[in-house]
Parts: sequence; structure tokens; C-alpha cells
Amino acid sequence: MVMPHFTVHQPDSLEEVLDLLGRHRSSVKVLCGGTDLLMKMKAGAVSPDHLISLNRVKGLRTISYAESDGLVIGGAARLAEVGKNADVKKLYPALAHACSVMATVQIRNMGTVAGNLANAAPSGDTAAPLLAYGASLVAVERGGRRQIKLTDFFTGPGLSVLEPLEVIEAIRVPDPPPRSGSAYMRLSARSKVDIAAVGVAGFINLDLEGKVIRCRLALASVAPTPVRCLEAEQMIEGQKPDETLLAQAGAACVRSCRPIDDVRATASYRRAMVQVLAQRVLAKCYEQAAGGVS
Ligand SMILES: Cc1cc2nc3c(=O)[nH]c(=O)nc-3n(C[C@H](O)[C@H](O)[C@H](O)COP(=O)(O)OP(=O)(O)OC[C@H]3O[C@@H](n4cnc5c(N)ncnc54)[C@H](O)[C@@H]3O)c2cc1C
Repeated sequence: MVMPHFTVHQPDSLEEVLDLLGRHRSSVKVLCGGTDLLMKMKAGAVSPDHLISLNRVKGLRTISYAESDGLVIGGAARLAEVGKNADVKKLYPALAHACSVMATVQIRNMGTVAGNLANAAPSGDTAAPLLAYGASLVAVERGGRRQIKLTDFFTGPGLSVLEPLEVIEAIRVPDPPPRSGSAYMRLSARSKVDIAAVGVAGFINLDLEGKVIRCRLALASVAPTPVRCLEAEQMIEGQKPDETLLAQAGAACVRSCRPIDDVRATASYRRAMVQVLAQRVLAKCYEQAAGGVS
């Protein structure tokens, strides 16, 4: 399909981005890598008259880490840059893995974490690890800034609480305490090129005896939005998990799903794989975290 005419603006400051959004508010979209948005425009699903690119905005591609602040991923940081970042690889391996295996090299070089979240696909690969890490978004608009917990962000397939004139300035991820482990596992029929049919992410933090203080589990592609598995988390917290408990937690994760049959997988296959992957993810998180128990 031939795309209708539109104008691309390339401001170099966030101030200017917000001005342009306000000026063209009736038919405007923020553009980052364009790997989702331009597909939708080509398909005729959206047809904004104005695209405001974030790609020249100074400082928006920065990825920084400090113990006091945790990880801060700029609103235009590329998936590939996040996946290769040394701090992300060392301290946030579930996110590094998601950013390194999703899509293709070309897409990872163009696409961004902010775009992946703003797109709000149930299958978004960065969402589950970021939910497991307890991440928040910093959203900015003319009226000011607000922090949105990722658990409150997604409201349905392609839907979120982000306002049309808000820009994700950054994604903030808390500093993982000592004796923490995290992992992300995904399945797709065509390996990396295809969107995940199932994704499971986990985070575990242990006390000095090896008991779980904190557990977070999140799923992708098995419900209308990426979801946390609160029941499974509660089963694991306070325990030294064994095979039986891991299997019970896996079953609790399945109860958190609302999968559908689609071209990628059947709902029953998705449920079965959630059980398997959740057990593996939890075991991997525990092993990693226990590596730090003295
Ligand atoms: C061949 C192919 C394979 C893919 N494979 C995968 C995959 O395996 N896993 C997966 O999760 N995704 C996949 N995708 C989807 C896509 O690449 C990702 O979702 C990507 O991270 C989107 O980022 P982007 O910067 O390109 O977003 P864009 O296309 O620029 O924007 C997407 C949406 O987010 C909004 N937006 C972007 N940045 C911001 C911001 N900072 N603030 C506010 N709103 C913003 C835009 O207005 C738009 O509505 C694939 C896409 C293609 C084409």
C-alpha cells in the first residue's frame, strides 16, 4: 500500500519535541526506530500527518547505571545498544538476553526499548524482563513529568496509560540487591525472526541462608497484556524452592495466563510451555542468585 503524505520533524531537544507535539496534536505520532509505527502506517492502520522523531534529541540514547540510581535507559536507546551494554549484561541478564535475541540484527539496531513498551504488544519481548525487575517509565509532556510503574502501564493489546502527547523519556530499573538472579526464556516457531509465542521472565533475591526474599515472574504472549504471576511469586517467597515447589509455581503461572489460539501457537501449547519455561526460569534465577550466597 502507498503511504499517504506526512511530514517528519527532527528536533534536537525534548522541549522542541513537546512543542511540536502540542502544535500538531490532532494528527501526530512520536517516531523512534519506526519498526512498528511504519509497518502500521504501511498497512493503513494509522495515518498521522506529522511524525516527531526522537532520534536527534540529545541525551535520549543514553544508557547509564549507578548503584544509587539503578539502570536508566534513554527513551531512544536502541535494543542492540541495551543488549550489548556491559552493565546490563552483568546486572540485568534477562533484559540483555531479550534485547539480543528478539527480532533480527537490523530491527535491533533500529528498534528501541521505549518503542517496544509504547507499542504495548502482548508479545513485546522487553516487557516481561522489565516487569520482573520492577521497572518504571518516566513520561513527560508539556504539563510536566510522571513516573509510571510498568505494572500499571499496559491496559490491553496495543493499549497503555501513556497519553497521546506524552513521550517516554526514560525507563528506570532498580539496582538488583546482592544474591539476585534473573532470566528470560522465549519460544517462537521461527526462532529469532518471529515474535515470541511464549515468553517467561523471572527475578529472585536470596537471603544469606538461601531463602527467597523476593520473587517476580512475568509472562509475554499469553494474555491481552504482559502479566505478572503474583500467586506463583507468593508461593516462592520465604522458601528454598525444590523441584516440587518449582512445578507448583509453574502451575500457578499457567493460572495467570489467558492465552489464545493464533498463527503462532495454540492456547493449550502456550499453557504447557508456560509450565515448562517458568520452572526453568525459576531454577536458573535461583542458581544464579545462589552463586552469590557466601
Ligand atoms: C521483522 C520484525 C521483527 C520483529 N520482532 C520482534 C520481536 O521478536 N519481539 C518484539 O518484541 N518486537 C518485535 N518487533 C517489533 C518492533 O521491532 C519492536 O517493538 C521495537 O522495539 C519497536 O521500537 P521502535 O523504536 O522501532 O518503535 P516505533 O516504531 O518508532 O514506535 C512504536 C510506537 O511507540 C511509540 N513510541 C516510540 N518511542 C516512544 C517514546 N520514546 N515515547 C512515546 N512513544 C514512543 C510510537 O509513537 C509508536 O506508537 C519486530 C518488528 C519487525 C518489523
